[in-house]
Amino acid sequence: MTSPITFPPHLEQAHCADVLRWAAETYGTESMVVTASFEDAVLVHAAATAVPGVEIVLLDTQYLFAETRWLVDELKALLPLNLRVVHPLADVQPDNLWQRDTEACCRVRKVEPLNRALAGKSVWVTGVRRVDGPTRANAPVVSFDPVRNLVKLNPLAAWTDDDMALYEQIHELPKNPLSERGYPSIGCWPCTRPVAPGDDKRAGRWAGSAKTECGLHV
Ligand code: SF4
Repeated sequence: MTSPITFPPHLEQAHCADVLRWAAETYGTESMVVTASFEDAVLVHAAATAVPGVEIVLLDTQYLFAETRWLVDELKALLPLNLRVVHPLADVQPDNLWQRDTEACCRVRKVEPLNRALAGKSVWVTGVRRVDGPTRANAPVVSFDPVRNLVKLNPLAAWTDDDMALYEQIHELPKNPLSERGYPSIGCWPCTRPVAPGDDKRAGRWAGSAKTECGLHV
């Protein structure tokens, strides 16, 4: 589908903070939602400092690692965050569905809550990076998402691991402790394993199955 919007070409090379500011100036801070997995602190820090007050959403799947919750608390203490924790619907209770049907589990714990979080918004900001793996290798910085009918920003799309590490160092950001224990990609604890050096970052997500994405980035 052809995008109904033409975006300024300079955004593809722009710094993450400039991309975020462009979106706030173009669409308004209130129309933006930043979804963060708290795998690391970079997107949350960049968004909260470039666009103060922007809504940052954490999808609480009921199966987050304790280390991820720790990083959330650290960043809440460090930054003035407009953090919204979005839970599954009330009838979704811990049920071990992940053992039987990961697609259904992601649908009720990630996709449905995300759709609720994005309802009525115009801009969705994500932490997707091209180096995450083959399914994300061509991720644009800015695009129109025809599925959700909004502008999708991936302001870190071109960032390397070194870029991320340098940003964390400059801003003295806390790290998710799992990142130094072999987890370059961090999702829910039942579906995330550490990976061997040199493996794809997302090789530990739903390891042993054909599933590579949770359905958020379609
Ligand atoms: S990643 Fe695993 S536990 Fe988390 S929602 Fe998907 S299937 Fe369920």
